[in-house]
Amino acid sequence: MKALVYVAPERMEIQQVPDPEVRAGEVLLEISAAGICGSDIHGFLGHSERRKPGLVMGHETVATIRDLHPTVTGWRRAQRVCFNPLVSCGACPACLDGSQNLCPEWRLFGMDRLHGTYAELISVPACQLYALPEALPEAEAILAEPLAVVIHAFRIALTGTPATMAIFGAGPIGALALVLARLRGILRVCVVDRNKDRLEAARRLGADLVIDSAREDAALAVRAFTGGAGAECVVEAVGIESLRRAAVAAGRKGSRMLFLGIAENDSALPWITMIRNEQAVFTSFAYTPRDFHDAVKLLERRLFDLTPWTERRSLAEGQASFLKMAHDPGATLKLMLTV
Ligand SMILES: [Zn+2]
Ligand SMILES: [Zn+2]
Repeated sequence: MKALVYVAPERMEIQQVPDPEVRAGEVLLEISAAGICGSDIHGFLGHSERRKPGLVMGHETVATIRDLHPTVTGWRRAQRVCFNPLVSCGACPACLDGSQNLCPEWRLFGMDRLHGTYAELISVPACQLYALPEALPEAEAILAEPLAVVIHAFRIALTGTPATMAIFGAGPIGALALVLARLRGILRVCVVDRNKDRLEAARRLGADLVIDSAREDAALAVRAFTGGAGAECVVEAVGIESLRRAAVAAGRKGSRMLFLGIAENDSALPWITMIRNEQAVFTSFAYTPRDFHDAVKLLERRLFDLTPWTERRSLAEGQASFLKMAHDPGATLKLMLTV
């Protein structure tokens, strides 16, 4: 089959690779679209320990079932599906507790040596599948995985409904956080970024205020937006030190700080200030099957629309597509490669 293979930093190429085997419990999927995720971009730039040359990345997928191992029941050929790409052992205390994202054995399709979905075919365990209604457009269904990330994060960090939220980062995760904040009834939401096109997208998606951090002090702007106190909840969806610090400075006393961005590992934060202000720090990683299920169900209801900022290109344009998303995404929030 044809696959887009990561061959060196900033270099992907189409290669012929062997078709996947279909083992017990697995289904063979024909991939129709695969989204480019921030983590794939991180890998493309050569910044990911777990994405080395020779790998087929990709884990955000819309597909149809081509074949089933005889051991699989409950699914049929030609059925339209997406799948949870995070595979866990199913038997450790974290898995048994419903925290499969914390399984010591977790693996992700498109990482390590487990090939992902920038390819024509993939074989996945049937237990990872979710049925997609025929009526749900591909450009919406492709958001199941990033939406699950945000659903999980809100489950971790929010109790009740904060009155104000500041979101740092207007990329796909920030935009989905904005959408979810709106659906959850958070009354006032502001979004910080330095990409003007993405700020405009955030404005059209319902942000009460967008803040261009290239032009103004984001923390001061968030404080002004919240009557001087700071936001009740702050979401940091980029993961660099300057924004992590700005996020803390934008949170009011007693705020909940939700850190999702994973660009940089180490950052200095003003811990004494945070302690005196009782700013609660939450971190959130990936999602559980429950979050993925909820993401698919929410997409089925079609309550929001990111398609004006969703771009579709062929798998053969993978290299150019990655360069664009890594260096100059413009207004594109999600680029999906179609096979
Ligand atoms: Zn992703
Ligand atoms: Zn486990």
